[in-house]
Amino acid sequence: MSTNITNNAKGLNDAVVASLKEKLESKLKDLAQQDHALRERLAAEDSFVRNTYVAGQDGAAISEVDDEVIAMIQHDRAELRDIQAALDRMSEGSYGQCTECGEDISIARLEVLPEASHCVACQDKAEHRHVH
Ligand SMILES: [Zn+2]
Repeated sequence: MSTNITNNAKGLNDAVVASLKEKLESKLKDLAQQDHALRERLAAEDSFVRNTYVAGQDGAAISEVDDEVIAMIQHDRAELRDIQAALDRMSEGSYGQCTECGEDISIARLEVLPEASHCVACQDKAEHRHVH
């Protein structure tokens, strides 16, 4: 069972990976629940709201709520994707390595952000590329 993860980043032993995996799985569950709740909220808003939104007519107040829910769903989906990808890397045995430069991601960083796919240096670079 442990042979699977021997290629994970140095310093990541089975116990650490197992505890991070637990964190990821519980986050996954929370996000799935939240996603479901948000979808229900969105569905509860009459389709009129979205029609109004699409048509760009009045009803800005309502479509702002709509936008907010959609943004939250998108945010959750992105996080779900990251978490799923981290779990995939765990089963592949590449967990804890930066997907950009291949360096080990520090355990301290993984403890805070178990789904991290980049080391701090690469994350910084990536964030600077996306200037809003
Ligand atoms: Zn890196």
